[in-house]
Amino acid sequence: MRVSKFFLSTLKEAPTEAELVSHKLMLRAGLIKRIGSGLYTWMPLGLRVLRKVENVVRNEMDKSGAVELLMPAVVPAELWQETGRWDVFGPQMLKIKDRHERDFCFGPTHEEVITDVARREIKSYRQLPVNFYQVQTKFRDEIRPRFGVMRAREFVMKDAYSFHANFPSLEQTYQVMYDTYSRIFTRLGLKFRAVAADTGAIGGTGSHEFHVLADSGEDAIAFCPSSDYAANVELAEAVSPTTPRPVPTEAMQKVATPGKHSIEEVCEFLKIPAHRVVKTLLLEGRDGDVVALLLRGDHQLNEVKAGKLLQLAQPIRFATDAQIRTSAGCNAGSLGPVGLNVTTIADRAVAAMSDFICGANEDGHHLTGVNFGRDLPELKEVVDLRNVVEGDDSPDGKGKLELCRGIEVGHIFQLRTKYSEAMKATFLDENGKEQVMEMGCYGIGVSRIVAAAIEQGHDEHGIVFSPAIAPFQLAIVPIGLNRSELVKETVEKLYAELIASGIEVLLDDRDERPGVMFADLELIGIPHRIVIGERGLKDGNVEYQGRKDDKATAIPLQNIVSHIK
Ligand code: ATP
Ligand code: MG
Ligand code: MG
Ligand code: MG
Repeated sequence: MRVSKFFLSTLKEAPTEAELVSHKLMLRAGLIKRIGSGLYTWMPLGLRVLRKVENVVRNEMDKSGAVELLMPAVVPAELWQETGRWDVFGPQMLKIKDRHERDFCFGPTHEEVITDVARREIKSYRQLPVNFYQVQTKFRDEIRPRFGVMRAREFVMKDAYSFHANFPSLEQTYQVMYDTYSRIFTRLGLKFRAVAADTGAIGGTGSHEFHVLADSGEDAIAFCPSSDYAANVELAEAVSPTTPRPVPTEAMQKVATPGKHSIEEVCEFLKIPAHRVVKTLLLEGRDGDVVALLLRGDHQLNEVKAGKLLQLAQPIRFATDAQIRTSAGCNAGSLGPVGLNVTTIADRAVAAMSDFICGANEDGHHLTGVNFGRDLPELKEVVDLRNVVEGDDSPDGKGKLELCRGIEVGHIFQLRTKYSEAMKATFLDENGKEQVMEMGCYGIGVSRIVAAAIEQGHDEHGIVFSPAIAPFQLAIVPIGLNRSELVKETVEKLYAELIASGIEVLLDDRDERPGVMFADLELIGIPHRIVIGERGLKDGNVEYQGRKDDKATAIPLQNIVSHIK
């Protein structure tokens, strides 16, 4: 590519609204242009970088066995109403009406759409497992769009959704995705860490986030260097500062009968990861134990699940008719695996929980309590990390904790049957029996990665791109292009030769002052630079300088192509 035919639009100074170094450099290098709050145009140079990231992601997803499709960005409300998320997703969802006044949203994520595809297309266990993915524009009306494409409103995400006949199959694909993500971020040249994470508004059970390590990151991560323990500090934040853990009553502390079923069994039955359980109460009743679980959700949403644990039935069964009333005026549990989301702030959920305890006492039921973390110390993940400081013991007991900051670039979830059950995505198993599909979902912030990579790769001169995502691999800078026939001829020949050997070359044919050309090429982060002038050519040399090198070295012209490769 010749600069004269391309479109560079670099700036000397970054607009003042940019705070983060990556945002400043993306604007100065002319990778993006702001159109409105959280809305950006990817300029030709930036688009080349975005596509590089996208292609690495796509290539590794394909290698993992996932299959690409493309869903509509605009989604009918009906699908979201089926799962109830139309009402609970909140103001991040951009809702739109068509000319017939029908409701739609610009998809912030696509679980509902893909589940609709799956329930229509998948009938038999023979079609499972399958992992669909797309690379698509999402819209989230972020409360504070900032840092350019790092937290935009419109952004590019790779989102994948897997469907399975059983849980072990989901676990297998989850591991494949975990490994695939690790390969993707390694190929992109990023320093990253996978951490245990909360499931937020997407829901489901087990979950990991992938963070690019950077001091400017919005997330805090606690990790243990001598083991593989790492968690987003947010993981424990749903037990928010305004939500004190309920103080165990005297009766609870006695733990008179340690329950007929372990909490793991209950969690397994309810398809809840044990680490989400903040508080468990077992109430012994005449016709069976009643169990209530207070679960960590995201900041606004805690869940109380409650139900009757029938002692006689094996495996555990939850009565589907009983309902437990709370003074909060809502049912703490519609029973069965679905439970009821108490869309209330976290402390109201706790209040519901304590009312539940009182109610049981009045009924004369014998109360036993299981205090999570005390009675079940082996489940280490519920550790309140909010007040953790460097040097605290790691929850896995294998060393001391350290803290760092990260940028969330990927997030994988075991959704289990949250969506498939609500939307009746079923299949026939080997015995011709109808079963609900297990699901996983896997997101990567493709456009955010560009900003995150620049947070990690820059110096005082500008961006330092890793070769995997640089817009061009090499720049040729001719000195006196229009004054020297020798320079012109050499440059043209080398340019053609480099292109023929598959190298992406940017030829700076502007014939500007060398300082101007050098500054631009350093700013936009091209990994390799060759300067060609008459003086060097007289000795048969050109000057080579890598983007991270302190100074240039003279290299014989005839060796330069092999030197670059
Ligand atoms: P965050 O915690 O940063 O708000 P999230 O947890 O809401 O992200 P997910 O629902 O997990 O995001 O979406 C998958 C990926 O999409 C994230 O890991 C992130 O890389 C990317 N992403 C999410 N929101 C944005 C945004 N506003 N701008 C750019 N990328 C985003
Ligand atoms: Mg978010
Ligand atoms: Mg997050
Ligand atoms: Mg996330």
